[in-house]
Amino acid sequence: MASNHHVIQVAVPRPLHSVYDYHVDGSTDVPKVGARLRVPFGRSEVIGVCISTTVDTPHDNTKAVLEILDADAAIAEELLDLAQWMSGYYHYPLGEVLATILPSAARKGSDFEIKPPPPPDLWHLLDPSAASPRAKTQQAFVQHMQLAGAPVTGPDLESAGFNRPMLRKLETLGVVERKHSTDSTALDPPLTATPEQAQAIEAVTKTKQFATFLLEGVTGSGKTEVYLQVMAPVLEQGKQVLVLVPEIALTPQTLARFENRFAGVGIMHSGLTDQQRLQTWLRCRSGDIRVLIGTRSAVFTPFADLGLIIVDEEHDSSYKQQEGLRYSARDLTVKRAQSANIPLLLGSATPSLESLYNVQRGRYRHLEITQRAGGALMPSFDVIDMRGQSLRGGFSDTLIRIIRQHLAATGQVLIYLNRRGFAPTLLCQSCGWQCVCSDCDAKLTLHRRPEQMVCHHCSLRFALPERCEHCGHTDLLPIGVGTQRAEETLAELFPGVPLYRIDRDTTRTTNQLNSQLEQIHQGRPCIMVGTQMLAKGHHFPQVTLVAVVNADAGFLSPDFRAPERTAQLIVQVAGRAGRAERPGQVWIQSHQPENPLLKRLMAHGYSSFAQAELNSRLDAGLPPGQPMAMLRAEAFDPQIALEFLQQCKGHLLNQVKTKNNTPHGDVQIMGPIPAPMARVAKRARFQLILIAESRPQLHRLLASIGQPKTPSSLRWSIDVDPYDAM
Ligand code: ADP
Ligand code: ZN
Ligand code: ZN
Repeated sequence: MASNHHVIQVAVPRPLHSVYDYHVDGSTDVPKVGARLRVPFGRSEVIGVCISTTVDTPHDNTKAVLEILDADAAIAEELLDLAQWMSGYYHYPLGEVLATILPSAARKGSDFEIKPPPPPDLWHLLDPSAASPRAKTQQAFVQHMQLAGAPVTGPDLESAGFNRPMLRKLETLGVVERKHSTDSTALDPPLTATPEQAQAIEAVTKTKQFATFLLEGVTGSGKTEVYLQVMAPVLEQGKQVLVLVPEIALTPQTLARFENRFAGVGIMHSGLTDQQRLQTWLRCRSGDIRVLIGTRSAVFTPFADLGLIIVDEEHDSSYKQQEGLRYSARDLTVKRAQSANIPLLLGSATPSLESLYNVQRGRYRHLEITQRAGGALMPSFDVIDMRGQSLRGGFSDTLIRIIRQHLAATGQVLIYLNRRGFAPTLLCQSCGWQCVCSDCDAKLTLHRRPEQMVCHHCSLRFALPERCEHCGHTDLLPIGVGTQRAEETLAELFPGVPLYRIDRDTTRTTNQLNSQLEQIHQGRPCIMVGTQMLAKGHHFPQVTLVAVVNADAGFLSPDFRAPERTAQLIVQVAGRAGRAERPGQVWIQSHQPENPLLKRLMAHGYSSFAQAELNSRLDAGLPPGQPMAMLRAEAFDPQIALEFLQQCKGHLLNQVKTKNNTPHGDVQIMGPIPAPMARVAKRARFQLILIAESRPQLHRLLASIGQPKTPSSLRWSIDVDPYDAM
């Protein structure tokens, strides 16, 4: 090799062996570690990241780097270390980890040029009567402004779903007036913390180095106020704060709680354009953004001087990426806080068993708030035995009576159901045939308006069958209750009462959701019916009744995490009741009121439930007691997927044997078995579960799988700490 070449190591976004040697000419500066480079790869060019400039035994015949895109590192050392760690922990190629970490504009080679953010424009409501009375969006806009009761910034209006062309139109109509303002709007002062809040705030604030706190605060206990008061001194020291929130909780209401208290709040979520994302990323890196509120992937944002990380609703499943690089953002915050040597605050009313186990082992410090803030009381809990009751669209007479009472007392009612659509099953009354998806092993859900059968797994839509495919009968009966059916029933039972259905079908746009939420926040008696979109994060002061239409399914699922998840959902949705002066009631319908899990939750609350559940997991040798990984494989031909996992199993058993000289040792390998949803979009899916005694052992075994040669029709992946078994 020519001596005037300098060989470097580059990670490229390719699945196989993603680290390669390249060289730069002696006449060029050696790129910085972390810089993006354009390099030839196969017959194409890719953008990779320089990960080392000192190569001990360089390959011969290295190819030349085509272009160095960054004079400095694009990925700072801290994030590069994190990427290396993730590559090892999640058994994922480094180049692809880096591609996940970088905003996609950066991955595609965009310049790192910070464009000055547009000057904040402030919109003042001038003349509501100038809006057309029949234009729905114009009226929604007026309502939005009236509710805000103060000028609103352009970006806030945009995120509430009012686009720029519409704002300009309203401006010409004379409804609103736009003023450019550089003065920061007056910020709210902190509330007087309750003694429990104060204790939590003090514990975190006096900690100056790495420590993880688990704040277990009942619903409505004012966890957000704790976050805000913990953030204040960190920001005063000139440091930045990262706040992670669950996907569906990143509403304008949530954002406003932070923006009303601090200047320099930025936001990062999947709804941003590539350029917006890159700009936010750059402005966090430069220190311009002081507080970043973001969903899962915001955990990869670089900061100039990070002083604190907060994870709200740390138990939430949206922190786990379920495809590609299957990382847990919550777990990664621990890594980041550790390497930045700063405190980490995880908050939840229903902490994950993982975090509670870490408290038990002394790794996390437990902070508790047992009382609601502002004098609100915890709601009462009762179960309605559905057995033997006549049901109307899933509602028992008892529940209907209770709903009527609450509406009469001018309360708002929230009804939770875990199914969207009209009915989850269409059944032949004659032979029991059920309408299923052509491409999945899944029952189709009946939807109305438009009337069709929808697969919730692959999204295929089908016309309603006129007759049974099996016996030809025409008596097809919708079984079970989805949100559409509940809505229809409630409209019949309570004519004239405003009814809001909130699920993925009614809230396609943030505009739709926000205008519904605004009407609800006006406080008049109404009924809301919805899926988990309603269950999380919202603060509805006027809700006095929360009803869970059916609590059973969750407790019956074979997934070992199902009881934990079900309990969390019930407690979260229940937590929407009685959050202000008026006490709340929670009523839960069940066909199995004697279910011990449900009974424990009702009688003793989440903490006690979680402790019992944790004990039984530890006894059963399941996570979080022992580490688990899942190998998933899918192919159109079931045999291909199955055989691959059988080979993996054979290989793993061999590994264990050579290590321990016993056939199974302390490792459990279960499967391969069909996945709970055994076929999705025509692909057969299998899984192999691996439970090890220790992390190092788990990782040794997973690493030994390496990169086997597989048929191109096979898709397979390793999921470390899988969240669900689907
Ligand atoms: P959580 O997130 O714990 O469910 P929130 O942060 O939504 O609870 O707080 C519930 C309500 O209590 C909010 O309206 C909040 O403004 C109010 N609140 C929080 N802390 C206090 C306090 N110290 N004094 C009075 N009201 C408070
Ligand atoms: Zn039939
Ligand atoms: Zn399907």
